[in-house]
Amino acid sequence: MADLLGGKGANLAEMTRLGLPVPPGFTITTEACRSYLSTGREPATLREEIGDHLAALERRMGRRLGRGADPLLVSVRSGARFSMPGMMETVLDVGLSDTSVRALAGQAGDDRFAWDSYRRLIQMFGRTVLGIDGSHFDAELEAARREEGVEADASLPAVRLRALVEEFKRITRVHGGRDFPQDPREQLTLAVDAVFDSWNTDRARRYRRQEHIPDDLGTAVSVCAMVFGNLGPDSGTGVAFTRDPATGRTGVYGDYLRNAQGEDVVAGYRNTVPLAELERIDPGSHRRLTEIMATLERHYLDLCDIEFTIERGTLWMLQTRVGKRTAAAAFRIAADLAEQEVIDDDEALRRVDGSQLAQLMFPHFDPAHRGEPVARGVPASPGAAVGAAVFDSARAAARAARGERVVLVRRETNPDDLDGMLAAEGVLTSRGGKTSHAAVVARGMGRTCVCGAEGIVVDADARRATVPGGGVIEEGDVLSVDGTDGSVHLGEVPVVPSTVVEYFENGGTPTGADPTTGEDPDDGRDDALVRAVDRLMRHADRRRVLGVRANADTGRDARRAARFGAAGVGLCRTEHMFLGERRRLVERLVLAVTDREREEVLAELLPLQRADFTELLAAMDGMPVTVRLLDPPLHEFLPDITELSVRVARAGDEGDDSRDHRLLRAVRRLHEQNPMLGLRGVRLGLVVPGLFAMQVRAVAEAAADRRAAGGDPRPEIMVPLVAAARELEIVREEAERVLAEVAARRGSVPTVPVGTMIELPRAALTAGEIAGAADFFSFGTNDLTQTVWGFSRDDVEGSFFAGYLERGVFPVSPFETIDAAGVGTLVRTAARTGRATSPDLGLGVCGEHGGDPASVRFFHEAGLDYVSCSPFRVPVARLEAGRAAV
Ligand code: ADP
Ligand code: MG
Ligand code: MG
Repeated sequence: MADLLGGKGANLAEMTRLGLPVPPGFTITTEACRSYLSTGREPATLREEIGDHLAALERRMGRRLGRGADPLLVSVRSGARFSMPGMMETVLDVGLSDTSVRALAGQAGDDRFAWDSYRRLIQMFGRTVLGIDGSHFDAELEAARREEGVEADASLPAVRLRALVEEFKRITRVHGGRDFPQDPREQLTLAVDAVFDSWNTDRARRYRRQEHIPDDLGTAVSVCAMVFGNLGPDSGTGVAFTRDPATGRTGVYGDYLRNAQGEDVVAGYRNTVPLAELERIDPGSHRRLTEIMATLERHYLDLCDIEFTIERGTLWMLQTRVGKRTAAAAFRIAADLAEQEVIDDDEALRRVDGSQLAQLMFPHFDPAHRGEPVARGVPASPGAAVGAAVFDSARAAARAARGERVVLVRRETNPDDLDGMLAAEGVLTSRGGKTSHAAVVARGMGRTCVCGAEGIVVDADARRATVPGGGVIEEGDVLSVDGTDGSVHLGEVPVVPSTVVEYFENGGTPTGADPTTGEDPDDGRDDALVRAVDRLMRHADRRRVLGVRANADTGRDARRAARFGAAGVGLCRTEHMFLGERRRLVERLVLAVTDREREEVLAELLPLQRADFTELLAAMDGMPVTVRLLDPPLHEFLPDITELSVRVARAGDEGDDSRDHRLLRAVRRLHEQNPMLGLRGVRLGLVVPGLFAMQVRAVAEAAADRRAAGGDPRPEIMVPLVAAARELEIVREEAERVLAEVAARRGSVPTVPVGTMIELPRAALTAGEIAGAADFFSFGTNDLTQTVWGFSRDDVEGSFFAGYLERGVFPVSPFETIDAAGVGTLVRTAARTGRATSPDLGLGVCGEHGGDPASVRFFHEAGLDYVSCSPFRVPVARLEAGRAAV
């Protein structure tokens, strides 16, 4: 019932049902909160209902809230459907007043404890309910410690705590505008409203935006009878995990703090001891706790984390939930539980995801050498970056140009920082979350990024920053930034390659246990993790119906893709084969005036292209290789117009027919305002006679050569940027003529399917017609996104995107995850109408989305045959395709 009771409330109820020792209480639903937040008032019957449930609780406990010789105290706790750790408020010790504090002291036989609890209540109540700045209270506490000459609050004597209570009441009056309420019922209702309100604090909103948690769910409020971990050395409080949430290793794991209340452990400002110590301190409670943890795992069938408190030797459970974990732990735990047949492999597959796998594939810092971070921020773009700290972009670019590795450190970034970000190994900011400019752009460029490291104070003018604890980072100091967990370290932390990538490079053969000893070699590799990944990858491959191919332009990339499990090349971008040395040939092609000149150049290009394709077909023998005919605007191959103009002007009018002159005329002729929407793709093929024919011939001859060498080549020809069926028909006729001619000459040539990219809205809308001339479609979702939204990826990510994300125009960049409502609708429509024309039309996707977890699921659901992505993303796509099918 987590929707209604929040995760915390639902799990408290569940633990109670399991017969575990949970302090009694009740939960106010998220429905009440939603009503309160929308009307600004408590629902009409809420107060009465709270009264009834409180009365029941009082009867059950045989005590009354804040009254009598043994007063009942309660905690008022937030808890939403999705865990938002530390984002909302909780008020403890509600029910204490000037009278009940004395009763509590008498009951507990401990003055110190009672006054300590009371000062905690006034402090928490003041901050949470009355919105008083916590530093007022903190300053007084600090002064008290100083005057008493003690380090810890726990060492303050009762008289001092009593004086603090008076001081805190004064702060409440001065800064909260009212007296601390002495009526326990009033404390309770005010606390409940404050917890409702805490749903909408800035930090809670920011957190939800980052985690994509809807804003309208509201929080539940759990009211629980207080139990006390601060009743002396036989009391205490702790947090624990049923397995190690960092590595996934089996065995309980946790921290315990003697003589403390819950908040103290979570806040981490007092010294905790490992759970194993509890076994020595209180063996009975330790045993009970271990049993309960086993019960919880058996019940939830997963890693659980818990909060517990021991009150004078009695153990109480205060919270549990299926715990958060690192990517490595997620794989390890899922595979272990499947191995132990606690869950089946389908369920194991559901418990991991592609972005976790992607994380495991980045190189990472050597855990043995990383020590404590100096700061932490939001892990915004994964990776491990090491470099010299630089505080402005121009200097970052300059230092990088000298071959230095740099980390760009900014308060926040803006479009002027693009050069610096591009030059840097990593980006670190002190402001902003996962949708900040720095985060969006860094992810787009594949740069490591940690943002919102709030403890760091950046002074760009002074070229330095300070870190929490007072350390200073000067320009040039080496930083190590971990984009996977958000930690920032001073100095160079050694980087180790990913064991998981090594496994994929081995073609998916797990390394590991020594066959004689059965032990994993102690070589820094996480073999257990690799075995877990292997198990889940195999299962994903068994389940998935979506094929996975790779985008590869070279034999090297294709071979790697094959090792990573790609079943072919879904996109070979031939334009990449025209760069470097061959640029000159393209220049000549553009300059060619006569047919003869042009044919000469094409004849020179032919053997080069043939060799490219031969290598690619060899690397993917027996698998499809989709060759896209030349796509980009021709002028991309030509010299820069300004440079060329200068050169020509310098040369004066000597030889009007110089090469530069002719080149300049051609460059001018081909210059476009919007090259992205200009002469490219199929348009180019129609304008430059013989170009596409040469490419098709190269493909056909390469296939013939491969056959002659005993291979099994399966090339496919793909025509880019088609908008109208007729464009494709023209190219197809020409291609078929060439294919037939080569077949006649060479005898053994495989059938070469001819298909098209669907990457323009018009193509998607007339897909039924286009399918008449196509053997397959491949959705070019990058261009389709650009043309459907009408913005260019190269231009927008640095400018208004961060603002759009921030303001919720889209939850995630449409270049990262397919925009299902817009672009996705065109994909579905084209797939449907295309197949209506031609039932065995092949359907694939090439483009960045092919390796994006959420998009892969969409393509699976849209009924496509395969996705194609960069070789490195192939395992991610395989895993997600499997997940989409279970
Ligand atoms: P959060 O969601 O921030 O963890 P909680 O509602 O769990 O907030 O409460 C904060 C701390 O107070 C936790 O450590 C919790 O265990 C402790 N706590 C909450 N309710 C009680 C209670 N009834 N008795 C003792 N400690 C409590
Ligand atoms: Mg908690
Ligand atoms: Mg394109």
